[in-house]
Amino acid sequence: MKDRCLAVFVLDVLERDRLERLWARGAAGFLAKLALHGGIRDLVGRDLFSEHGTAWTLFSGVSRVVHGQYDYRQTRPGSYGFMPGDTEASPEVQPFWWRLGPQSRLLVVDAPETLPLRGLGGIQVADWLTARAASIRRGRTVEPPTLAARFRGPLCAADGGAEYRRDSTVTQDRQVLARFREEIRRKADVCGQLAKEVRPELVIVGFQQLHTAAHRFWRYRHGGPDDLVDAIDQIYCETDRAIAAIAAALPDDTDIVVAGLYGMVDLYPTTGLSEAFCRTLGYHVAVDSPPARMRLLDMVPSSWRAEVGWWLPSRLQENLMANRVAATTDWSRTRAYSTSTLYSTTIRVNLRGREPEGCVSPGEDYESLLNEIVADLRSLRDVDTGTPAIARIVLPARHYGCGPHSMLPDVIAEWTPRDQFRDSVSHPRALMKQPAPQYFRDSYHTYEGSLLGMGPRLANVQGPIDLLDIAPSLLAILGHEVPSVMLGKPTLAGTVDTQNSHH
Ligand SMILES: [Zn+2]
Repeated sequence: MKDRCLAVFVLDVLERDRLERLWARGAAGFLAKLALHGGIRDLVGRDLFSEHGTAWTLFSGVSRVVHGQYDYRQTRPGSYGFMPGDTEASPEVQPFWWRLGPQSRLLVVDAPETLPLRGLGGIQVADWLTARAASIRRGRTVEPPTLAARFRGPLCAADGGAEYRRDSTVTQDRQVLARFREEIRRKADVCGQLAKEVRPELVIVGFQQLHTAAHRFWRYRHGGPDDLVDAIDQIYCETDRAIAAIAAALPDDTDIVVAGLYGMVDLYPTTGLSEAFCRTLGYHVAVDSPPARMRLLDMVPSSWRAEVGWWLPSRLQENLMANRVAATTDWSRTRAYSTSTLYSTTIRVNLRGREPEGCVSPGEDYESLLNEIVADLRSLRDVDTGTPAIARIVLPARHYGCGPHSMLPDVIAEWTPRDQFRDSVSHPRALMKQPAPQYFRDSYHTYEGSLLGMGPRLANVQGPIDLLDIAPSLLAILGHEVPSVMLGKPTLAGTVDTQNSHH
């Protein structure tokens, strides 16, 4: 029987306009070839509203309303506390390849937001060369563990290759750029070798460097040394070559899918404005006199607190933050509070029966409170231009028709992109201000995904594709039944593989 292979490359960030500019210059030729075959399709669907958790949906085929992932730190259900995102998944929200079973031949490398699964055939590795971007970050894990030596290596940039480093020098940025390029090449080399050994039926490779580089080098788009002005372009071209090299190590008729999960925009943190919004407008009410020890906790450096939203926080930091909020809040009069994300505003209603000291009744009171918050958010204006400061509002209870959710926030607001720090914003009843945070990163995301693909088993269709359709499509292409827990349709699957079917 002839080996057939399906290869899926996941780029957490894929800026469409940048890619098109590169193509116009004759660069990024492998992705251009894919686009020539099947076009570049929009990823669409209800789950596209948060950076974290999108890959969970992509790989599991199960919606965010079920897996509940939306941020690196999330509300701990039934409490006012927080927990890291990426908590253990229930079996139905595991990545689709766990359904391929012990006879499978997998090569899964740095697939975002997943961990290697036991009991499958082939090789899986997580947190190997991920440029410290969106991933579970539990340290490198390899399945089977006996192959860990294949993934050793000294690849870690001088400053960790962080997506943001305050006051980094040109020299440091150059080192990080060189390191990212080296990581991408190394990933291509090792994946190419492993592909020849494993002869995989399914390859999944994540390239997180596009994401980390986009944040890290964003500031050079307005000028700087030539090699840094086009640093992000260099990472695109390196990634394009890496995908081409891995594809070249796979059989000729391999089906290839490239998914980009989000784009980039200008935006600085808005955490202080989210807090100010809830407190100034009287949604979040403080106790009259906070306990003395809490005033001490208020002195936790703001840099520390700001970064908590991004780095997986220690339990201690989380407890400090949660204790501080809990001890300084009058829950009997607090109807809603900000859960302090970095770039979006996420608001939790203090709902009776869900929050420990909830005071808002489910039903009519909850709904009218949502309306009030939405109206207030829509009234926010940039002080200098008078233009709306909020671009998009998602109310998961209505968005999914699920009612108040145990994990998801009740309100998620995305701010209008802006290339300067927003230190204040106006509302008809108040002016809200925020201090400049230590974590002063100048870029954030759009929730516009892209899909490219080419191969004999892919449907020859164009136009938008729902994020929820991808996992069922990939399973169908591999000749497996689509389980009922996946609500999407296998629209990406053309000629379904029957010779390889396990059924
Ligand atoms: Zn990001």
